[in-house]
Amino acid sequence: VSHSGQKPDLNIGFIGAGNMAFGITKGILCSGEVQPRKVMVSAPSSNNLGRFQELGVAVTHSNTEVVTASRLVFLAVKPHLIPRVLAEIAPSVTREHVIISVAAGVTIATLEELLPPESVVLRLMPNLPCMVQEGALLFSLGSRAGPQEGAVLKALLAPCGLVEEGPEVWIDTHTGLSGSGVAFVYLFAEALAEGAVKMGMPTAVAQRIAAQTILGAGRLLRDSGRHPAQLRSDVCTPGGTTIYGLHALELGGLRAAAMGAVEAATERAREMG
Ligand code: NAD
Repeated sequence: VSHSGQKPDLNIGFIGAGNMAFGITKGILCSGEVQPRKVMVSAPSSNNLGRFQELGVAVTHSNTEVVTASRLVFLAVKPHLIPRVLAEIAPSVTREHVIISVAAGVTIATLEELLPPESVVLRLMPNLPCMVQEGALLFSLGSRAGPQEGAVLKALLAPCGLVEEGPEVWIDTHTGLSGSGVAFVYLFAEALAEGAVKMGMPTAVAQRIAAQTILGAGRLLRDSGRHPAQLRSDVCTPGGTTIYGLHALELGGLRAAAMGAVEAATERAREMG
């Protein structure tokens, strides 16, 4: 891919038509810079392909057809299927292709070993909020990928959310922080709402308000660029409600629990890799 900034000329393929492929496809298309007809998706079963057809994307049962039709190929099958899929597509992969794997735990070294020697490989770890263009994505360059491929991927994925580049060792940490982190935040949302239910608020209203509180806090944190401790201190009137609540959270060990959750999920990702 030698023409960065010419996204409309890229043909983009997805092998695997699951949630991750769908989230990324939706993100990419919503910018309007990539036409649906530039995208092709493959899966063995037609069941998974319907929602892609609704987006106007070409669908097929043939993985090699995706490879021949695309320059950028996302591998979006479950990790255990990667060796089988790579054996199948390897003969069709040329040095013009850029292969981007989102398979959790499959290392760049493994991908490069299973593909022809000159293949350009990148590893990407997205998270589910890509679906609503608020994902957090981290990618690492393979040994034959350069800054140009990185720039193309970054520009292409920008509509999916935040896109960061880093060394491969960060991928497992990103999985703990952001892939699994989404679930940690849902647990917190549930607990906040239950607190309000305990205080007499109807569940449905409490859940709506908890979701909006997390969204609002997140946007303010991201968009202000300020440190969370600073924003937190701003809402703490001396002797007021918030400092009483924060004290309860500190007594419950929320900070240590959250740090431990990211650590545990990262270590689990390392184990699985
Ligand atoms: P999924 O089960 O929703 O989708 C997998 C897709 O692959 C299905 O459409 C299935 O039909 C298709 N498939 C099965 N065998 C195939 C084959 N031989 N050739 C082509 N397609 C085939 O899974 P998902 O949640 O979308 O995850 C896909 C990948 O993304 C996984 O490797 C996972 O590790 C990674 N990932 C997922 C998340 C997440 O939050 N879901 C986050 C980061 C990374």
